[in-house]
Amino acid sequence: MRLVLLGAPGSGKGTQAARLKEHLQVPHISTGDLLRAEVAAGSKLGLEAKEVMARGELVSDAILLGMLEDRVSRADTANGFILDGYPRNLTQADALDALLKRIGQPMDYAVQLDVPTELLVERIAGRAAAEGRADDNPESVRKRLEVYNTQTAPVIEFYRQHGQLTVVDGVGALDEVFNRVVSALAPTADVG
Ligand code: ADP
Repeated sequence: MRLVLLGAPGSGKGTQAARLKEHLQVPHISTGDLLRAEVAAGSKLGLEAKEVMARGELVSDAILLGMLEDRVSRADTANGFILDGYPRNLTQADALDALLKRIGQPMDYAVQLDVPTELLVERIAGRAAAEGRADDNPESVRKRLEVYNTQTAPVIEFYRQHGQLTVVDGVGALDEVFNRVVSALAPTADVG
């Protein structure tokens, strides 16, 4: 199953993706994690991405597409994948669509985790205290939410227009949200 998880920073994409990975037995591809690994390794790409990420802005589409193509072409994606953090703008959504068409593996579902902004801010503040991520400072969080609202929200419309979008209420206990996501992926008897 090929699945993309959509949602604002703090909506719980990463947490739910980690669980879905066990449930569906397909890899979890987080572009944020891939970028943080490059930063930690001190690679050329990591050096380029580091400051942009710390500011809460988007790393260049070209870098992301290259990274994604490399990752999706690995053997472990034969049965699908869970994509988390990509696409983040319409250019990326088009690029992903073209890539999947090229390899003959269309996206099965786009699941949006819907969480109100006040709760996002609260959750990120809690995570900042626990994990100390460089981009979880108030200024960067504000920027990431703004980038989400202006650049990523149109991606939701993109998947809606392609008939692939499922919206899931992301408010509640982790298990509760997980069960909602799993139900959203169940094949519906009433197709067409
Ligand atoms: P969050 O969802 O909490 O913002 P992520 O781990 O998904 O966290 O992303 C962290 C940062 O990595 C983003 O703010 C951005 O700078 C960079 N990043 C991740 N994915 C992408 C992407 N698809 N395009 C551009 N930049 C990205």
